[in-house]
Amino acid sequence: MNSIADNISAVQQRLQHALRGAGRNSDSVQLLAVSKTQPVAAIRAAERAGLKAFGENYLQEAEQKIAQLQSPGAPLQWHFIGPLQANKTRRAAELFDWVHSVDRLKIAQRLAAQRPAALAPLNICLQVNIDDEPSKAGLRPAELAEVAAAVATLPGIRLRGLMAIPKPRAAIEQQRAPFAALRVLRDSLNKQLTALQQQPMDTLSMGMSGDLEAAIAEGATIVRVGSDIFGARAPLR
Ligand SMILES: *Cc1c(COP(=O)(O)O)cnc(C)c1O
Repeated sequence: MNSIADNISAVQQRLQHALRGAGRNSDSVQLLAVSKTQPVAAIRAAERAGLKAFGENYLQEAEQKIAQLQSPGAPLQWHFIGPLQANKTRRAAELFDWVHSVDRLKIAQRLAAQRPAALAPLNICLQVNIDDEPSKAGLRPAELAEVAAAVATLPGIRLRGLMAIPKPRAAIEQQRAPFAALRVLRDSLNKQLTALQQQPMDTLSMGMSGDLEAAIAEGATIVRVGSDIFGARAPLR
C-alpha cells in the first residue's frame, strides 16, 4: 500500500496535469482532503505532507477529531461536507470554516444566526442536486435564484459558491456535463447577485477521486478527495 504522502503527491500531479490541460493557473484549485472515517493519525500524516484543509461528513466524529488536532500555531481549516440537520447547525457554525452542504434557506439562516461573533464569517456553498436525483440532497436548479438572493444578505455567513455530487459516470466526456451545468448556474447567479449589489460567488466545489479531471476542466476551485488520498474507506455508516 502507498503511503498517504505518496498518494497526495500523485493526486497533486493529477491536479497539475488537469490544470495545465485546461489552461488554468497552477494555484487555481484547492485540494480538500476528505477525512471522514479516517483516524487522527492519518490526518496528521496528510498535514505533514502539506495539506491544511480537511473535509468531514459527520458532526460528532468531526468534533472529536478537531479537538484532538487543535494547534494554535498552525490551525487546520475544516470544511463540513455532509448532510446537515437543522438541530445540528449550532455545532457546525462553531466548529467549521466552511459548510459546503447548505441545501435550504432555513439551514443558512440558522448558521448565520449561530455563527459566533468572534469568528470570521462562515463560508458556505449551496448544494445543488445537479442530476435531479430523487434520493439525493441539494437544491433544484430552479430554486437557486431565490435562495441565493436571500442567503447573500445574511450576516455571519458568506455565500462563496455552489457544490454538487453528480452521479458516477465512467467516461470523462460524460463526467464533464454536470460540472459544466454547475458552472453555468454559478455564472448566471453571479449576474443576478451583482445586479443586487451582492458579492459574486468565487467557488465551485466539485470533483472527487473518480472525476477530479473533469471537474477541473469545467472550472472547479475546490476538489474534495478522500479515497485517493487515504485509501478505501470502511463501508459508510
Ligand atoms: C466522501 C465524499 C467525498 C470524497 O469521495 P472520494 O470518492 O473518496 O474521493 C467528496 N465529497 C463528499 C460530499 C463526500 O461525502
